[in-house]
Amino acid sequence: MNPMGIFGGTFDPIHYGHLRTAFELQQALRLQEIRFLPAGNPPHRQQPLADAQLRLQMVRAATEGHRGFVVDDREVRKASPSYSIETLAELRKEFPDRSVCLIVGMDAFLSLPKWHQWQELLQLSHLVVAHRPGWRAPASGPLGELLVDHGTGRIADLHDATSGKIFIHAVTQLEISSTELRLLIASQRDPRFLMPDSVRKIIMDTGCYLDQPTPK
Ligand code: ATP
Repeated sequence: MNPMGIFGGTFDPIHYGHLRTAFELQQALRLQEIRFLPAGNPPHRQQPLADAQLRLQMVRAATEGHRGFVVDDREVRKASPSYSIETLAELRKEFPDRSVCLIVGMDAFLSLPKWHQWQELLQLSHLVVAHRPGWRAPASGPLGELLVDHGTGRIADLHDATSGKIFIHAVTQLEISSTELRLLIASQRDPRFLMPDSVRKIIMDTGCYLDQPTPK
C-alpha cells in the first residue's frame, strides 16, 4: 500500500532530532515517502516564535535533496488552526489507497487524548510512535487500552492496511529540542552541528530567535 510517513510539527526550528528520527523511520519501516507538515497555527500549544513562512523555509532547506523527504505546506497556507485529524482526512481523500503513518514522539503520543477527535484518528491513519529520551509506553489507562487493541510489532501490518495500527519504534536518541535551540540562539551561542548548516544560515541571516528572554 505504498506507505507514507507524516511528520508534523512546529519545527521552530527544525533540527537533527527531527531529521534523524524521520530518516530512521523511513529506512526501518520502508516508507516510500516522509511528508513534513509544518504547522501553521497550532491550537494546542503556545504560538511559535518564527512565523510560518520562515519555519516552512527552514524545513524546505533541511530536507532538500534527500530522496523521499517531501514538504507539504497545506497547514501553513490555511488561515484557520489546523487540527491533525482534518489534515489526515484531506490526505486520506487525496490518497485513498495508500497507507498513511502519522509519526509522533512518545511525548505527543502521551498527550493524544487531548487532541481534537483523537478517537477517529486510527480510522484515517496508522500511528508510528518514536521513542524519545525519558519516555515510556503507557501500560494502563486509555492509551494502554488503545495499545492492546491496535498495537503491532509487525512492519508488514503498516504496509498491508491503510490505517488502524500503532507501531512503537525506538530511534537514536538525540537530546535536541527546539525550545533549547531558541534559548541557545537568544543567548548568542552557535547552533552548529545541532541542525543542518542550511537551517543555521537562515537563522543567522534573519536574526530570528534573538528577541526572547535568555535563560537565567
Ligand atoms: P519544542 O521544544 O518547541 O516543543 P519540539 O521539537 O518538541 O519543539 P515539534 O517541532 O512540534 O516540537 O516536534 C515535532 C515532532 O518531533 C514531535 O512529534 C516531537 O515529539 C518530535 N521530536 C522533537 N524533538 C525530537 C528529538 N530530539 N528526537 C525525536 N523526536 C523529536
